[in-house]
Amino acid sequence: MSLEKIFEREGVKGMVLPKLDKYNLPFSRKSIEKLVTLGEIIKPQIIKSFDSESENNYIACVLKNIGDKIILLPIEYEIIPMSPIKQRKKGSTLKFKRYSESQVLYYHLTPRQMFIESLSNIELSKSYTGYEWQGTLYTEKEFKVVPLVEIIQACKIFFNSKETKILSEKIEIEHKIYYGDGRYAFANVLVPSVSKKNTEKRSVNLRRIPIKRKNSLNERVSWLNISVSSLCPEHDWQFHFGRYYGGRFRKGSEKIFCGHEIAAYFYLINYMKNSGGDYVIAHNPFFVPNEELYKIYKVLTNQVMKEVLVDNGKTALSILNNAEIESMLWLSIAHDAMTKKKEERGSYLFTKYFNTKDGSFYTNSYIKT
Ligand SMILES: [Zn+2]
Repeated sequence: MSLEKIFEREGVKGMVLPKLDKYNLPFSRKSIEKLVTLGEIIKPQIIKSFDSESENNYIACVLKNIGDKIILLPIEYEIIPMSPIKQRKKGSTLKFKRYSESQVLYYHLTPRQMFIESLSNIELSKSYTGYEWQGTLYTEKEFKVVPLVEIIQACKIFFNSKETKILSEKIEIEHKIYYGDGRYAFANVLVPSVSKKNTEKRSVNLRRIPIKRKNSLNERVSWLNISVSSLCPEHDWQFHFGRYYGGRFRKGSEKIFCGHEIAAYFYLINYMKNSGGDYVIAHNPFFVPNEELYKIYKVLTNQVMKEVLVDNGKTALSILNNAEIESMLWLSIAHDAMTKKKEERGSYLFTKYFNTKDGSFYTNSYIKT
């Protein structure tokens, strides 16, 4: 399988074709309406009196129970309130509570605990662009934003590589790892690009990566100031524009992680575990989605289309963009968090597949294309 194939998505036509074939219908808007009446396509009815919370709650339920049908989101349903670029700049994030570095060390706070804690504040009416925490360095109080869609991209780069061996051969350590004072690692990792146009590798620089001695149970090393950077073109806009947040301009002090950077982190975890060295990575703040959430991601990418407004007040059909997919993944997490007990929340993401004790990954055989 080629790299492009792994990341390729079907358009509206590819999505509905198997259903059209079943009834021998040509590809047209009329046929799609026919599939709605036949119950092959579910078009949720948005009731005017609904507030955004009830709307989102309803859509989250539809998403969860769609089976092999297709969802057609009506024009009345606003998936994200802004354009994808604006959403990236101004959308909400799920914020981890602020702790000082010494509190994190003293209370032994892991990324997972802080994520679960933050779920108490999640709102169904909001449109999220990721989760975030803030670094504590005196010189650099950077906001670190992690979009779920980027983690999934990273999983595709990393886990597919394990299975198909296409990508693992292409990821490599460019420079040696420096262990700092035995608490932090520094490395450069080369990750293949995933775009069709650009086949070159992306060099990812990882700094202040928390490590611990193999077999040591002492994970009391701060992960708050993890710093990962690359020259991926997707960061360009951020460099030039920055982001407004809560009335404050965040230029230069916000980092939104991309799939390559997260894949490099995953790679480093595995590399350090298997390289025969004395150290392993102590914390992973990039939560791997569990099978249930990945299923929802698959539905969002392969079974959901939306009505969009075109000229003359007419509507056309389109697949969801990444900002919309991100927001709807959070909808599922919010829905889940509100229906579950506190201790069961957050099961959607992670460490089930990532062993923090020895830094290994479990097989994520479900992350396939
Ligand atoms: Zn990138």
